[in-house]
Amino acid sequence: MSTTTPAATLRPAWSHDEGAARVRALFAATFGDPPDGVWSAPGRVNLIGEHTDYNGGLCLPIALPHRTFVALRARDDDTVRLVSAQEASSVVTLTLSSVAPGTVTGWAGYAAGVAWALQQDGFDVRGFDAAVDSCVPYGAGLSSSAALESAFAVALDAVHGLALASDDAGRARLAAACVRAENEIAGAPTGGLDQAASLRCQAGAALLLDCRDGSVEQVPFDLAGAGLALLVIDTKAEHSHATGGYGARRATCEDAAALLGVPLLRSVADAPDGGTGALATLADGTPEGDVRVRRVRHVLSEIGRVRQFVALLRSGAVDQVGPAMDASHASLRDDYEVSCQELDLAVSTARAAGALGARMTGGGFGGSAIALVRAGAQDAVVAAIAAAFAEAGLRAPELLLALPSGPAA
Ligand code: ADP
Ligand code: MG
Repeated sequence: MSTTTPAATLRPAWSHDEGAARVRALFAATFGDPPDGVWSAPGRVNLIGEHTDYNGGLCLPIALPHRTFVALRARDDDTVRLVSAQEASSVVTLTLSSVAPGTVTGWAGYAAGVAWALQQDGFDVRGFDAAVDSCVPYGAGLSSSAALESAFAVALDAVHGLALASDDAGRARLAAACVRAENEIAGAPTGGLDQAASLRCQAGAALLLDCRDGSVEQVPFDLAGAGLALLVIDTKAEHSHATGGYGARRATCEDAAALLGVPLLRSVADAPDGGTGALATLADGTPEGDVRVRRVRHVLSEIGRVRQFVALLRSGAVDQVGPAMDASHASLRDDYEVSCQELDLAVSTARAAGALGARMTGGGFGGSAIALVRAGAQDAVVAAIAAAFAEAGLRAPELLLALPSGPAA
């Protein structure tokens, strides 16, 4: 057993002042002169509703207290200069007019891509100098990429007076620009959940996002008031088939929708029979048919679990959502087949140590899990997970506490 204090292993979130001081210092050291300002955006964790976004379904993220900070100064020309405390290579310089799909490599694509997407939308966006620093875990399924894009989105919105960040409709447009930046310039597939969460979540609430029409509802989520805590376990596992597996799952869903003659599986979930007829149609006795049935069954049942989870929150039964979390994990593991040893271990250990519910979160094949725990049981769950990973000979996971936090600003 480790002798370290369990609470000491929780990854802290920076205060606004701490994050701002860091990026101001990096900006001054890199570019001289002060920036026009500092903006920041949160990572996110999805409470439930996994692999539903690209099917036009429902999901329920919260913004993390962990944020990415950007100090930015607008330029009069077309040059973009970027530096990040998380990227060892020094300043990246590029010309905004040369940004197009396939022209930018590495992390600069996320930042320059947002400026490009806003220009594509007709906004007058010019070059800039920017320094980035972040306490959002990298590549942990907690959306450091959307935090980065969203911080640039609100920064460019402010320095160019676009006024999009001032209401939810404008924030939805910023989120759409971030999605285009990630898909088309950074070249990473993403369904829209991450950017909506980073730009449209509100403190103290979970965001019920309808991915078919992009509409949102704020669902009060008072963890502390219910005496609960939400642990996020970054398993540090990243399996090589993560990207290919994601693409394959999307393709299977698209094939199934085409076979069923619907644009999105959401239409099937909303059918009066809840999709049982569709599942029977897909079960054609072939192995491929069997896979399709299981994939679609996950999507349909997961949309139902989002509704169930939201209904419990609305009725004040926050401490009753555990079974829906557990069922979501089982469905992702068995029907969607996107879990892995590390995620299963985090989830089973958390439950055995007293969690009310636990599930993998994010795309899967590694990344993070979440566990809902009574505040008093938090340290025991943290210690049990650390011990279980050590015993299994796995890399030590990193844990953090999620509280529903505010959006990009
Ligand atoms: P996740 O979004 O789950 O953290 P992704 O692979 O989608 O994982 O995004 C991680 C990538 O986003 C990094 O490899 C890097 O290119 C970029 N990125 C995220 N945060 C930063 C940052 N603070 N500075 C520079 N690049 C970043
Ligand atoms: Mg990402």
